Amino acid sequence: MRLDQSIIAGLSELGDVPAYLQHVIKAGVVSTVDTQMIIDASDCHAVAQGKAVASDARTPFGPIEERVEKIQRTISAEGFYGGNFHALVREFGSLLFGMIASDAQQAEVASWHETGIAQFGGFLMADAGGSSIQQWNTVFVSDGEMLALDVDKVWIIEGHRLNYGSVSAASTQKLYPTSILVPPDEFGKLKKTAVGAPFLDGSLQLGNVSGKVTVPKSRMLTGGGLASTSIFLSKVRPRFVRALMAHVKWLDANGKISLSPQQRSSATALEALAKAYYHGLVEKKPSLPVALALKFTSNRLLLDLVTTEAASDPSIQRDLMAFTRMEGSSYRCLFEIYSKVKIR
Ligand SMILES: Cc1cc2nc3c(=O)[nH]c(=O)nc-3n(C[C@H](O)[C@H](O)[C@H](O)COP(=O)(O)OP(=O)(O)OC[C@H]3O[C@@H](n4cnc5c(N)ncnc54)[C@H](O)[C@@H]3O)c2cc1C
Repeated sequence: MRLDQSIIAGLSELGDVPAYLQHVIKAGVVSTVDTQMIIDASDCHAVAQGKAVASDARTPFGPIEERVEKIQRTISAEGFYGGNFHALVREFGSLLFGMIASDAQQAEVASWHETGIAQFGGFLMADAGGSSIQQWNTVFVSDGEMLALDVDKVWIIEGHRLNYGSVSAASTQKLYPTSILVPPDEFGKLKKTAVGAPFLDGSLQLGNVSGKVTVPKSRMLTGGGLASTSIFLSKVRPRFVRALMAHVKWLDANGKISLSPQQRSSATALEALAKAYYHGLVEKKPSLPVALALKFTSNRLLLDLVTTEAASDPSIQRDLMAFTRMEGSSYRCLFEIYSKVKIR
């Protein structure tokens, strides 16, 4: 079974994958595979599903997940505009923070907001040094009870106006990343600059953040262990894909883009697949490959809307292309899917 077929087979277990969406997946795999994948030409398993559980045995949604559901409905009615994109991302941030921060750290951050010390917090992962941790410029060294942190982060949502942030940093050995909470007094010392033109009709600006700060070791965000990022991503990616498809359908319904009937039914089908995935599967052991397959498929459908000029407005084209980079680029997703499904 080839890689495109293993993605289609995995998604088909969740619901209908229309012929046009299958074509988009196939074309996406062909244009994204790297040299190693071509040379290997490995046979692949179907992308594995998590175990579907009876509805009465499912982990119920927590308050954050319930708020995300409400925002999803608002996005269907209004698109990402009017602050809806930021509202969604804020809840994703709360979901992640709840997984990696201790109760005391969460209470402290809540108090910054309550007292007005802080309004905006961010997650700073993308690094100016490059995408692999070995290339990162953002590193820390321990000095007694303190951490000296060199920050060089790029492309952060509203990075130019953040008051505090969770900075993903490498130790000098650069083996795995550590998240460090940089509080408002130290974060204020960092240099912050807006980068590039804004997205979403001027409402979404990215920023770069750099400089040196010192924080106590107690600022490390160690809850959840190493698996927490992948669990977080497998929760967030399908929700983001559902929201993206709702935004696309809103753009179409409001005359901002013009989908063909096949593209429209593909967006509807992908929205349903994403929803079925995170509503129906056991949440304790999320199935990361399916979440990757959903994001890969979403990326390729968004790019299809650009290349076919279903989206012809250059600023909307740029928005859609940018969303293919957030929470998993096509290459990143395919690379990870491949490493999980190839038959050795
Ligand atoms: C709107 C928007 C909001 C964002 N918000 C945040 C944020 O709040 N915080 C944050 O930390 N980051 C944020 N980011 C950054 C984002 O999360 C990613 O880190 C970034 O977009 C990945 O870009 P990339 O091109 O390096 O990734 P990739 O495309 O995944 O590339 C990774 C590496 O793989 C290589 N590669 C790519 N394609 C191939 C191929 N076909 N074959 C072989 N090698 C390949 C690339 O050269 C690169 O070295 C945001 C980005 C956008 C656009």
